[in-house]
Amino acid sequence: MAGRYVEIPADRLVATLATIGTSVEQSGGSWGALHGFGNERVYYLRPPKVATEVRIFTSLSRHADAVRARGTDAVRLVVGARLHSTLAQDSFKPLQGGKRIYRTAPASLEGEARVDRFLDRLRDELREAYRVAVRTPRCPGCQSAGRVGVLISRNSALGSFLGCGNYPLCTYTRNIDATAGDRP
Ligand SMILES: [Zn+2]
Repeated sequence: MAGRYVEIPADRLVATLATIGTSVEQSGGSWGALHGFGNERVYYLRPPKVATEVRIFTSLSRHADAVRARGTDAVRLVVGARLHSTLAQDSFKPLQGGKRIYRTAPASLEGEARVDRFLDRLRDELREAYRVAVRTPRCPGCQSAGRVGVLISRNSALGSFLGCGNYPLCTYTRNIDATAGDRP
């Protein structure tokens, strides 16, 4: 292994998240235990005016040994939609597979430089995830009803289409082809 494990102080992690240009909210210990994530801590980056967010799942340094033993020594970034559907009690729907970033740095680096290297990598991935969250199309149906919603792809017997994440509260749909607005 060329890399070595890096412990990330929580305040450095939060400071890095804050550089992406939005407020950072966090949900710790008890929330994680409630949802079966053990000691995982979850942070949220929420772009303004969209119903998407980036969630950052991490165990942080305090429980690092337990995390490494389970083979999940990583910080995970997941872009998803916040749903307002009356049926969606757990109102987060991932829009794509999560990205796992292992907490390693080159063994040649020492101390703070190793933390810096990891946080640089994390920042790059966060920027990309944040862009995806911002670009997710908003739902016109919800907009005219004074709600915030996003369009997500759905499948039916007739093929795939874009539907509102707030379904059945909102029944707006649109053909996939109709969204290709940047074609020449
Ligand atoms: Zn809608």
